[in-house]
Amino acid sequence: MRKSDFVLRNDVAEWFSKPLHELLRLASATHKKYFPDGEIFLNTLVSYKTGGCGEDCAYCAQSSRHIENSQKAVFLSEEEILEEARLAKESGAGRVCISASWRKVPNNEEFEIVLSAGRKIRAMGLDVCATLGTISESQLLQMQDAGFSAYNHNVDTGENYYPKIITTRTYSERLETLKRVQSSGMHCCSGGIIGLGESLDDRIDMLHVLADREEPLFTVPLNVLVPIPETPLENVEPIEFWDLLRVISVARIIMPKTRICLAAGRAEMTDEQQVLCFMAGVNAVFAGEKLLTTQNNNLYKDKSVFEKLGLIIK
Ligand code: SF4
Repeated sequence: MRKSDFVLRNDVAEWFSKPLHELLRLASATHKKYFPDGEIFLNTLVSYKTGGCGEDCAYCAQSSRHIENSQKAVFLSEEEILEEARLAKESGAGRVCISASWRKVPNNEEFEIVLSAGRKIRAMGLDVCATLGTISESQLLQMQDAGFSAYNHNVDTGENYYPKIITTRTYSERLETLKRVQSSGMHCCSGGIIGLGESLDDRIDMLHVLADREEPLFTVPLNVLVPIPETPLENVEPIEFWDLLRVISVARIIMPKTRICLAAGRAEMTDEQQVLCFMAGVNAVFAGEKLLTTQNNNLYKDKSVFEKLGLIIK
């Protein structure tokens, strides 16, 4: 049985057409209703395999098709993953997400390392999740056994615009992965990127597909494109901050129970812009200096903003 209400595309489009001040007010009220305690969830991303990816995602520094020095993958050892998890715990993060630049999760000793590291991170008292690419049912079961509670697989953008960004994996393959994750009983996370050159319609499509799930998503990571030299999107026109704020507000209204996570692009924002994002419904961020290949916010600076706002770090 479907656990979330149907969300119609027309309704999403209507929200986007509202004046921003009205959206912000409603998003803020929705946020307060569903997350009354003013919590901010701190996640840390640990990249087990970086680079050497054969996919052609037009924004990505890890694609060997775009970036000369990304031909070869770099792996962390299990001990290095655990060391990063320990540092994350010390700095107050409650969740570690292990990432790998795979198209499809392999059934080999590399996956065994992810499982083993996940087990040990869980034993440290941290929540552990992963974003590893297309994954099978049996691999999801192995991850659950190892203590992973969530799996992330982004849709990146709306279905119509998607072929301009990625040609090596279909949109329906992504949606199939999301279905498998939701059927497995693990928390499912999925989000996308704003500023890929997409239109308003594409943003509406993306939020609609994220909101219209059998079960509400656990987390929706929203990224702002950080253009990477040598990628096809290196010269794309930057978006206005207000466009992001509108996307966050609509996301909060149509996905009231979901954690909205401000991911890449936060380092480029002022404190005041981030505060507006928190008021509009963001209640999770990635902590740590690096977010895969892009710069992220310094945790001490983050904490001072959270303290000023009276947000409770989780
Ligand atoms: S986004 Fe993921 S799948 Fe796409 S090129 Fe980068 S690492 Fe590969």
